[in-house]
Amino acid sequence: MRRTLFESLTHAPLTEPAPAPDEAALAELAQSVNRTARAKLGRSLSIRQIDAGSCNGCELEIHALNNAFYDLERFGLHFVASPRHADVLLVTGPVTKNMREALLRTYNATPDPKWVVAVGDCAFNGGIFGGSYAVAGGVGGVIPVDLHIRGCPPTPTELLKGLIALLDRANEVAVRRA
Ligand code: SF4
Repeated sequence: MRRTLFESLTHAPLTEPAPAPDEAALAELAQSVNRTARAKLGRSLSIRQIDAGSCNGCELEIHALNNAFYDLERFGLHFVASPRHADVLLVTGPVTKNMREALLRTYNATPDPKWVVAVGDCAFNGGIFGGSYAVAGGVGGVIPVDLHIRGCPPTPTELLKGLIALLDRANEVAVRRA
């Protein structure tokens, strides 16, 4: 026990270092994130995840963000249970016709300023489910999207890069105004 305590005091954390923000994501955000809204956002982001019809592959990668290795919360990013407490909606999957109304209602229940991040190829344009009779299309066809994180599924590092790009935009303005 004493040895374990000593090791935990003398060893560096085992978490992965933060990746640099994604350049493409920064460019996309620059066009869509309003400056005043960014200043209000502050230095942390509350994220509400919505599965609009995903195969759950994207969710597995999103869940990995909360494990001890990626440790999402150390960046000021955390998941919340209600859209009313969220700054960001993280939407996965093609939007199925059954989930279209629920997605719209969740978007309307999220207070401004808010951002929508579409995760995965399906959320971009329907992906491999595009054209299905049960699918309404990509997320952008239902609600406005600020950032796409492509991939099938995107890795936790790619997800982190996109979210850190979003957070960086917020911090940039907060520092400039301090
Ligand atoms: S992008 Fe790939 S992993 Fe994500 S929901 Fe679509 S098929 Fe599944």
